[in-house]
Amino acid sequence: MKNIILTGDRPTGNLHIGHYVGSVRTRLAIQEKGGYDKFYIMIADTQALTDNSKNVDKVTNNVIQVVIDYLSAGLDPDKVCIFIQSQVPELFEITSYFMNLVSVARLKRNPTIKEEIKLRGFENTIPAGFLCYPISQAADILAFGANIIPVGGDQLPMIEQTREIANVFNSTYGEVFTLPNAVLPDIKACERLPGTDGKLKMSKSVGNCIYLKDDEATVKQKIMSAYTDPNHIKVSDPGKIQGNVVFTYLDAFCKDEHFKKYLPEYKNLDELKAHYKKGGLGDVKVKLFLNNIMQELLTPIRERRKELEKNIDKIYEMLFKNAAIASKEAQKTLENMKKNMGINYKKFIGQ
Ligand code: ATP
Ligand code: MG
Repeated sequence: MKNIILTGDRPTGNLHIGHYVGSVRTRLAIQEKGGYDKFYIMIADTQALTDNSKNVDKVTNNVIQVVIDYLSAGLDPDKVCIFIQSQVPELFEITSYFMNLVSVARLKRNPTIKEEIKLRGFENTIPAGFLCYPISQAADILAFGANIIPVGGDQLPMIEQTREIANVFNSTYGEVFTLPNAVLPDIKACERLPGTDGKLKMSKSVGNCIYLKDDEATVKQKIMSAYTDPNHIKVSDPGKIQGNVVFTYLDAFCKDEHFKKYLPEYKNLDELKAHYKKGGLGDVKVKLFLNNIMQELLTPIRERRKELEKNIDKIYEMLFKNAAIASKEAQKTLENMKKNMGINYKKFIGQ
């Protein structure tokens, strides 16, 4: 079986460290390991419009931002095919055929959609496109025959829905699709990195993020004011790890070698946690340690960004070229689908 990877992001803002550990880091590991057949990364501008229909500029302006974030994080345009969703029209034709295979009740049961509807205050005003975006996402994945999908935990219901659509299509019209699998990050804390405010998910739409592009002082300021344990007031107080985002970020980013470099009086994260729980370890010390780790990761990303920003035209040219490649691939799938469905009018004139 071929290894075809597809993943993507909505261009609703710059990428943050939640995206990095949730999906970008997995992409980098796959890119590094190699051995795959194709690797697509889609900027989901049309999907972003489903809840930003009045903010088209926000979406279009953020496309380049997200691509610069990818490239500065280390994704290599010679090894991955980055393209813009709206430039591959076949995806929307595929979506139309899939729409008939899913009930509205099923769409409304999707737990991520339910949560996002609540967050956006859409109770009685859900745009139809928003409710249906998991169908369009299934088209994005299946159009390329992708079977490896590196994502954060909130995307599991989308992959499940994609598998259902592929199954229904295959059993209704005959086998076209292989079933995709989500690849979650290895570390549990990374499946859904919380925001600096302690809220459940770091999210562009909530504004509780540390962005990959944040400058040194901003990163430090966000870390120093991040949510910890509100009852850990004096250094001597015992502290809670559960729900303490500084420790969650350490779970996501810290390696034993960071202790040698920045905090040699502890061997590893378990020792640091034990001391915090017992009492006698202040938030500031833990936060400064985290800041060192984050700066080490983000400084080179920030520097590469500065270089990339000098040649925006070249990045757009790469995107346009890739859209044509993606379009050709999706066209092949669409032809297979229509053949199986029997949508072929030339047969009526003997062709
Ligand atoms: P929006 O609020 O516009 O939906 P978002 O921050 O949720 O934006 P997406 O573009 O929807 O970002 O998600 C892109 C990818 O990043 C998905 O694979 C998603 O699971 C992952 N992701 C997003 N936020 C987090 C997070 N806080 N922790 C881990 N993974 C995340
Ligand atoms: Mg999202």
